[in-house]
Amino acid sequence: MLYKAKDKITKSYDVIVIGSGLAGMTAANKMAKDGLSVLLLEAHNKLGGFATWFYRNKKDHVFDISLHGFPFGMKKTCRKYWNKNIAEHIVQLKDVRFHNPQYKIQSTFTREDFTEKLINHFKIEKQTVDAFYDYVESMNFYDNQDMTNRDLFHKFFPDRIDVVRFLMEPIVYANGSTLDDPAITYGIVFSNFMSKGVYTFKGGTDVIIKMMREQLLENGVDIKMHSKVEKLLIENQTVKGVMLKGEPIHAKSVLSNANLRTTILKMAGEEHFSPNFIDKTKAVRMNSSSCQVYMGVRPGETIPHIGDLVFTSTHPKFDSEALVGFDITSRTFSVYYPEGRPYDESPRYAIVSSTNAKYEDWNKLSEEEYKKAKEQMIEETLVCLENYIPDIRSKLDFVEAATPKTVKKFVHHEQGSSFGTKFEGLEISMGLHHQVKGLFHAGSVGIIMSGWLGAANYGVIQSNEISSYLYNLENNKEQEDQVHV
Ligand SMILES: Cc1cc2nc3c(=O)[nH]c(=O)nc-3n(C[C@H](O)[C@H](O)[C@H](O)COP(=O)(O)OP(=O)(O)OC[C@H]3O[C@@H](n4cnc5c(N)ncnc54)[C@H](O)[C@@H]3O)c2cc1C
Repeated sequence: MLYKAKDKITKSYDVIVIGSGLAGMTAANKMAKDGLSVLLLEAHNKLGGFATWFYRNKKDHVFDISLHGFPFGMKKTCRKYWNKNIAEHIVQLKDVRFHNPQYKIQSTFTREDFTEKLINHFKIEKQTVDAFYDYVESMNFYDNQDMTNRDLFHKFFPDRIDVVRFLMEPIVYANGSTLDDPAITYGIVFSNFMSKGVYTFKGGTDVIIKMMREQLLENGVDIKMHSKVEKLLIENQTVKGVMLKGEPIHAKSVLSNANLRTTILKMAGEEHFSPNFIDKTKAVRMNSSSCQVYMGVRPGETIPHIGDLVFTSTHPKFDSEALVGFDITSRTFSVYYPEGRPYDESPRYAIVSSTNAKYEDWNKLSEEEYKKAKEQMIEETLVCLENYIPDIRSKLDFVEAATPKTVKKFVHHEQGSSFGTKFEGLEISMGLHHQVKGLFHAGSVGIIMSGWLGAANYGVIQSNEISSYLYNLENNKEQEDQVHV
């Protein structure tokens, strides 16, 4: 059932899921399908977390926030843990372009096509390319975590900064990683994409979230929006539920899809964890944030095909710092054509420019400086876009910018992080229930578990943990009852 904002919840649940990001929703759906009673609480007035959208000009325009591209694996995840209809809306983006001072390349973003580019454009021996692919494809979570991306590229392509850029830059956009992050985080995500290319959801984020919401309700998940959980109820190192608007709601387990650090340090409280765990939690670094410029093409107007994803940069070489720099040199344009978002009346096009960014660069500005910086970002983005569509200004009737402050405001992630935490966050997230029984976390952490696919899959992993926790709880109780009899 769908609770109204003013409804008071008196029922108790097997599990309360805090937050309806893709991890929270996928976990809630799976657990409900498995027969558990599930309550999904969401702070916002709609489900989806970062998987969201907004309308402008009386719905003349609809913009997707994070639907730029995900790996093919999302199709399987949706088929298995959602439904066939959702999976069938997932389609490939076949035209990915890279324009920077080092190369100008068009690709399908698959292993086959990248291999061809590495051999023919970058003049790398086939043997080396194959060895690189075989190596990254064999990487898994349990591998040596000391090797960094820098080491990995040095091993296969020493002194080839152009190749490093070609292989690394799109993944930096996909999950904010850097050359100093563990190579497994790159290897796993890169291989996921390379298996079959980049995919999107035909119809847009509003459609997928509507379909997911229907499925959640069909499977018996109780949902309440406008519900920002303040505190977790914890007694004797065991979670007992949550506090919502000053009232307790009881549950045998809680899955938090809220920010990892916020879950532990603010919603639970340091006193429930070992000092070592708290030290490690405090040391978890957030990933970078991002800026976007949303551009709506006037309804009825058309634009030429310039690619689905266009990675542009004026920076001379790959540089992780420059990619998050306040002086923007790199932008990825996601172009939404009418095929991807069919409208009955007239064709609609939208373009979203994304740039990774640092929260502190935007947060430290005065109101006046912030306004000016946003205007400058819009102007520079339009200048860049004119290289591809010279008369773009006359075709647009809506332009708006978002910054890391916007990201933080809407999804409550510390420092407006778009991709959760750095790698060390994974150990903390997975270890939560060893500190407080029944308390679990799922959501973008550790680079690997971020993005649409990573978050959804992590929701599945953690829902299995919860099911087994509840099973043991029930069985131990039965055993205790038998002893008492
Ligand atoms: C601009 C941008 C572009 C991106 N582009 C892509 C892309 O192209 N491809 C891709 O795969 N990924 C992309 N991502 C990343 C991807 O969207 C996220 O990794 C993923 O959606 C995160 O899902 P999540 O489950 O971690 O939860 P989130 O999306 O972080 O959602 C958490 C939810 O919890 C709720 N919440 C938080 N605290 C509370 C509380 N106390 N009580 C109740 N509710 C609470 C929030 O309101 C939110 O709805 C992008 C992200 C951003 C910001």
